Amino acid sequence: MTPKKISVLGSTGSIGRSTLSVVRESSARLEVFGLSAGRNSALLRDQIVEFSPRVVSCSRKEDAARLRADFPSLEVLDGIDGAAAIAGRAEPDIVVSAITGISGLRPTLAALHAGKRVALANKESMVVAGKLMRDTLKRNGGEIIPVDSEHSGVFQCLAGERRENVKRVILTASGGPFFKKDPDRLGDVSVEEALSHPRWEMGRKVTIDSATMMNKGLELIEARWLFDLEPFRLDMIIHPQSIVHSLVEMRDGSVIAQMSPTDMRIPIQYALTYPDRADNLLKELDLVKEGPLEFLPVEADRFPLAALARRVLEESESYSIAMNAANEVAVEAFLQRDISFQDIAVVVTSAIDSHRPRSVQAVEDILDIDKETRRLTKIQLKQR
Ligand code: MG
Repeated sequence: MTPKKISVLGSTGSIGRSTLSVVRESSARLEVFGLSAGRNSALLRDQIVEFSPRVVSCSRKEDAARLRADFPSLEVLDGIDGAAAIAGRAEPDIVVSAITGISGLRPTLAALHAGKRVALANKESMVVAGKLMRDTLKRNGGEIIPVDSEHSGVFQCLAGERRENVKRVILTASGGPFFKKDPDRLGDVSVEEALSHPRWEMGRKVTIDSATMMNKGLELIEARWLFDLEPFRLDMIIHPQSIVHSLVEMRDGSVIAQMSPTDMRIPIQYALTYPDRADNLLKELDLVKEGPLEFLPVEADRFPLAALARRVLEESESYSIAMNAANEVAVEAFLQRDISFQDIAVVVTSAIDSHRPRSVQAVEDILDIDKETRRLTKIQLKQR
């Protein structure tokens, strides 16, 4: 069997590192063609030595120049154009899209234009450009296999099922670190508390999104486009153990759930090997040891951003783009300790309340709405 060639966009982030750990264990099946990273050029350097890619990119020109000098036979690109160029190259079979935030949009679209299999972890690109991504996919004959654990679960539950038989898709949420905390006491939680997720090890942005439940809101919108489902068929439920990743209710009353240990390497490996499956090299799921599995409703007063995303899901795409942009700005401001945890929801809600929707035809429209919302949100932050 010739190994499949893969490129990893966002190789030094949490999903990128987990992807390379899957590759490390399956070198007979997978080989690295390209890597694209942000500012962590020290780790990128280690990855180059270990995985011998043909082409890499990093965000800063000065880092790229140093890599060119140190690895003369390696092709080194830079910036988001570099990431997009790697995504669009003919050689790899699979592109893992794991850049965080809207920065991942152009590289992900480039991979879809090239007709690749995209293992999609960059949920924001689906949130802001779901329709465009679907159209690009249809025109170019590639495929998207979700990496997000909930969507990987839905994808697996839907295998072999006809779409008209699906009544409802339910994504589970761990509830993050604060789902039992008195909502009135969320004002003074620290960045460190918000970053200590009880179940998952993830990047900083998604961990904060998980604490506010914006993550689940973004995932509802992601699911809408990934699986072509009307908003009323999408639901969320809190499941603190994060063993059941999603559930699909069929019209006849059967509910199919997907379970696995809480480790991103499982959905990553699935997206890389699908329709095959490779052996699990991690801890097996032991339901007796896990103890009782709980399911709880998502309370709107505790998680205002989950309720806001529900509203946005029913609106035009322009609102999804604005919500994502305001959220990226607000989360960054919280991580910089400029605003409180509860302010994240205040800032994002006010961006949606004052948003003037526009029609979205092309990627430029998406980037314009994103830029304008960021500008207005930053002004709002300064005035606080
Ligand atoms: Mg998820």
